[in-house]
Amino acid sequence: MNEPMPHASAQSGQPDDAEHITPAEPISRRQLILAGGLAGGLVGLSGCAAPALVRDARAADVPRFGLGVASGGPLTDRLVLWTRLTGPNLPAHVQVNWELAHDEAFTDIAARGVEVAESDWAHSVHAEPRGLAPGRWYWYRFSALGQRSTPARTRTAPAAGVTAPLRYAITSCQRWDHGHYAAWRHLAAEQPDVVVFLGDYIYEYGQVPGRVRLHDGGPTRTLDQYRARYAQYKSDPALQSAHAAAPWLITWDDHEVDNDYVGLQGQNLQPDFATQRAAAYQAWWEHMPVARSLRPVGPDARIVGRYDWGDLARFILADCRQHRSPQACNKPGRGGSSVVRERDCAELRDPTRSFLGLEQEAWLARQWSAEHRWNLLAQSTLMTRFATRDKGRVGEPDMVWTDGWEGYPLARQRLLQTVADRQVPGCVVLGGDVHASYIADLKPDWKNDRTPVVATEFCGTSITSNGWSYDKFAATLPDHPHIRYGRGDDHGYLAFDVTAKRMTVQVRSVDDVQKADSGIHTAASFVVEAGRAGAVRA
Ligand code: FE
Ligand code: CA
Repeated sequence: MNEPMPHASAQSGQPDDAEHITPAEPISRRQLILAGGLAGGLVGLSGCAAPALVRDARAADVPRFGLGVASGGPLTDRLVLWTRLTGPNLPAHVQVNWELAHDEAFTDIAARGVEVAESDWAHSVHAEPRGLAPGRWYWYRFSALGQRSTPARTRTAPAAGVTAPLRYAITSCQRWDHGHYAAWRHLAAEQPDVVVFLGDYIYEYGQVPGRVRLHDGGPTRTLDQYRARYAQYKSDPALQSAHAAAPWLITWDDHEVDNDYVGLQGQNLQPDFATQRAAAYQAWWEHMPVARSLRPVGPDARIVGRYDWGDLARFILADCRQHRSPQACNKPGRGGSSVVRERDCAELRDPTRSFLGLEQEAWLARQWSAEHRWNLLAQSTLMTRFATRDKGRVGEPDMVWTDGWEGYPLARQRLLQTVADRQVPGCVVLGGDVHASYIADLKPDWKNDRTPVVATEFCGTSITSNGWSYDKFAATLPDHPHIRYGRGDDHGYLAFDVTAKRMTVQVRSVDDVQKADSGIHTAASFVVEAGRAGAVRA
């Protein structure tokens, strides 16, 4: 990271406001200039494209919005609308119209505009309507090549000063070949205000025979392979319905690139990992409803941000992969993670190691808000103290997994000590990655019983990805009284209802992850009272 971490509103668009389009001004100056410069390859604007090509591209039987639509990054006056054109014979540049309306019938238009979908960016569209009203629901849709997308719902954040209730869910880890996406269908039906996605949107692995669904092709390494993998995942109608239900806030974890990667180090120390990371980051951006200003440059991308929900809550989005120190005590010649005995690994206690990178640590320390009732840190993995025992060993558990925060205990302590020192109100850490639900107390020092609980952790289970068996997980819990709830055999999401007084959380678990039409149930409910860290059973 070479520049300071930006405020989300500063990273949500280009420096000028040229792409804000009112109903009376259907195409902006910037877009007309762009269109004029590209007229040779542009369909639909000036008629300069070859007629046969236009005819092929407009064929009615080819779905052009086959990956659905999405929205994200809601602020009080703007958000991002996303789609990607699909199918054969797409010209290099295609004009895509978008509309944002107050009503489902699109009779009361709030904003509309035109974007150019480019083959260089997988014909993705990231439209950024501005000047919207705070705290409002909208409908949006796209049209191109004689077709129209399905309409979808999105909303803006409430204005400062407002403490209206917030309903959101945390989600992560949707490995395609481990199950079906029934959880997404149920989440869409709950009509959340925001969906928070915490990483592992795709998995890079190749096809594994015999699974309930199959990955297309081999492991992803190139831009085309990552694009194809996103397209496969996003073809799922249940996932599309969750995107169409609400705006998303998104961070990533490892599998968007490579299992257990950190910085520019792949799991297998593969040469030229920077090229692979650049391809993976580009494909991520092409498929996510995130701002144009977040578009990666080579292997680098800035995805952190801060999103305020009135005075009720502040979401802080962190990047847990790009800037972190390598995992501790790897075998020579190996990257990735392992399980190590704490006292055999002095590197764990090296204070220069950082989970977020020192610059992001400093940025995060500046984001904690005394003005909001809740500070919600959206990051990708498990933070609480968690250790296991070697087979047959008695005494304190001392085997730790080096990829989570437990592998960076001093960085974790720095973060939580800052939360304690600043008395950050309603500090809640949201995570994923570990394919298990953990609801836990967070303290700067677990070895000192007198240190207070300063924050509450909700680590959500996977949408589909396999986790530990019930018995294996249950056997660890007596060693961890600060973990109020833990299960590794369930799949679904955590649903949060937030007011100024309390946060109510439901563990929503699908009945059978192998079935696309599975039902869902609430496995447990917890409450966090404002001003009192730690979850209690509801
Ligand atoms: Fe995962
Ligand atoms: Ca992960």
